[in-house]
Amino acid sequence: MKDISTVRSVVVVGAGLGGLTAALALLRQGFQVTVLEQAPMLAEVGAGVQLSANATRVLSLLGLNESVSELGAEPTGKMIRHWSTGRTWEVPDLAANSREKYGHPFSFFHRADLHTALMRGVQALAPSAIRLDCCCESVDLTGTRPVVVLRSGERVEADLVVGADGVHSCVRAPIAGPDKARFSGLYAWRGVIPAGRLPEHLRTMVGVNWVGPGRHVVQYPLRRGELINFVGIVEGQGWQVESWTQQGTLADCLKDFEGWHEDVQTMIRAIEVHYKWAFMARGPLQNWSTGAVTLLGDAAHPTLPFLAQGAAMAMEDGFVLARALAAHRDDIAQALASYEAARVQRTSAIVRGSNDNTARFHNPKLADVDGAAQYIEEQWAADKVRDRYEWLFDYRVDEVAV
Ligand SMILES: Cc1cc2nc3c(=O)[nH]c(=O)nc-3n(C[C@H](O)[C@H](O)[C@H](O)COP(=O)(O)OP(=O)(O)OC[C@H]3O[C@@H](n4cnc5c(N)ncnc54)[C@H](O)[C@@H]3O)c2cc1C
Repeated sequence: MKDISTVRSVVVVGAGLGGLTAALALLRQGFQVTVLEQAPMLAEVGAGVQLSANATRVLSLLGLNESVSELGAEPTGKMIRHWSTGRTWEVPDLAANSREKYGHPFSFFHRADLHTALMRGVQALAPSAIRLDCCCESVDLTGTRPVVVLRSGERVEADLVVGADGVHSCVRAPIAGPDKARFSGLYAWRGVIPAGRLPEHLRTMVGVNWVGPGRHVVQYPLRRGELINFVGIVEGQGWQVESWTQQGTLADCLKDFEGWHEDVQTMIRAIEVHYKWAFMARGPLQNWSTGAVTLLGDAAHPTLPFLAQGAAMAMEDGFVLARALAAHRDDIAQALASYEAARVQRTSAIVRGSNDNTARFHNPKLADVDGAAQYIEEQWAADKVRDRYEWLFDYRVDEVAV
């Protein structure tokens, strides 16, 4: 009989940024990999994602250095702007000289570009590894090996199942039990703007955070500045659907930012499609595995995006998981224990740090411009910025002990 503690084949449920990173890292370590994705077509949403050096390092280690350089937009600085007056402060930035400091860039990507680069990387090593239209309904743990049960009735067996199936993970159920998400009281407007629709001063290669009481806006360039990404976070009860594809209306988006500076209104009017995403809160899990089933990314630790680390964490998880499995090929329990030991503390700290940033970005002091100036001095001094971000950016997936 087969030794069930040995891992040769891995099924990854979910072909998001975390699942594809894991698949590529596992293939490069010599595992047989199947990725089961519920979507009938592989296409990421039209939105941006910021990746700091800890995540671009992962891409580089996976042989995607060229994609990072070609597809990413590297910022030249960071600005904070006041919600109603538009007053601008240039603040210390760890992104602008990221290559020199951390050996890897801080880059803004169109999600579709990043997704395609990872997908091509997987397909180059295993052309039929990614299976589409395969919605996982449950994981059967009754046999010697875990079995993914698809909606079609098909059963897919492997030595290890990895749940990379995002915030609504079905693989999470046997590990976390029936933990219900609760609405965090925050939702986001997201949209991509062709840069040509904006005046020149809004088309810069700088990341901008607009701060105000109860809301903030993040603006940054994509595709060498051809597009501008807009994310507007709102405190309020108006929306409780957590989905990349749900749309709102221009009128509702404008209403949420009524009284905000004309530049914010201009960007909102220029957005092609106004997507709306409600943030649901779930506590970070302390235990990510049961038997030969484990989790990564949002399935294990969904987070508010206020440190811009959700995708970065999912990618780090995937890489470290592959290393842990390669280091303990014949002892799956040890591999998963090493994986969790390397990852749980860091990802939990990021979930907590992201929550703390809500109060920082939506501070009531920001209502008037003098309060805002004082806030910038207190919160965005060089040492404070270093304390908040250095430990995130300087993490090395290839050096962490497994
Ligand atoms: C507005 C916003 C802005 C953000 N900005 C940033 C940022 O700048 N930087 C950053 O690092 N992070 C950011 N994040 C967080 C980041 O998007 C997520 O943390 C990241 O996408 C998680 O990746 P994942 O692979 O774990 O999950 P997902 O990206 O959600 O992928 C899950 C995949 O699993 C598939 N799937 C789901 N259920 C099933 C099933 N039952 N069967 C088969 N397949 C299934 C889905 O179709 C999907 O392809 C942001 C999030 C939001 C909402």
